[in-house]
Amino acid sequence: MGTAKWVIDAVKLGELQDVPSELIYLEDRSQRTCSLPLIRFVLRSDDRTVVVDTGGPAEDEEVRRKIPFGYVVAEEERVENALARVGVRPGEVDLVINTHLHWDHCSNNDVFGNAEILVQRSELSYAAAPGPDDERAYRIHPDSIPPFTRCLDRIREIEGGTEVAPGLGVLPLPGHSPGSQGVRVDTGTGTFVITGDCIDAVDSWRRWDSEAPLPSGRFTDLADFHASLARLEGTGWTPLPSHDHAVVDTGTFGY
Ligand SMILES: [Zn+2]
Repeated sequence: MGTAKWVIDAVKLGELQDVPSELIYLEDRSQRTCSLPLIRFVLRSDDRTVVVDTGGPAEDEEVRRKIPFGYVVAEEERVENALARVGVRPGEVDLVINTHLHWDHCSNNDVFGNAEILVQRSELSYAAAPGPDDERAYRIHPDSIPPFTRCLDRIREIEGGTEVAPGLGVLPLPGHSPGSQGVRVDTGTGTFVITGDCIDAVDSWRRWDSEAPLPSGRFTDLADFHASLARLEGTGWTPLPSHDHAVVDTGTFGY
């Protein structure tokens, strides 16, 4: 494919609060808690607009109440308002890529009614019947419908790495979940990779010089997780973690 250059906007769609740090940093014993932004990435190149991940629910008080941590969505962070701030109308997005199908990454897929939704086949099959420890990550609570099931007719399953547009590709990053994938984005200032929850936060990726990147405390396969982190290191691309305030604060990448 060609050499299109993309610009990336990282847009905050709410925040998880009081999250135990051992969920973010493997075997962390500090008993700290963290706040984590939910981030949607808007990618633009010429006349094309692609969205990577779509955040959590903003409408349903009951759902919000049942999430085990604090969860807040400010008015300006509601999905339509956050899109308007970066000048995007939902109908002009023709492609959504979900890094994985945990509720905090796909709950607003239905907003993008004209978009095809790209998901790894292994993620879709696991999400349909997750292990008991992972049930809540996909459906929030036992009485609710998993958000990814609202748009099944628009999901296109893919297997492994592939180019999806000029300058844009996906690569499998299993470990956090079986079908987690990253999104490689070529820009005018280098190549970035949207990591999904393979990397939640910059400080689990870049610790001391001598230390390897740290998996998160949520995983389905730890060996796969380490292999995915090693794969990312080998690329030399700049990672954009999925739950780091620094990513939102910088906001725009690629020009
Ligand atoms: Zn996740």
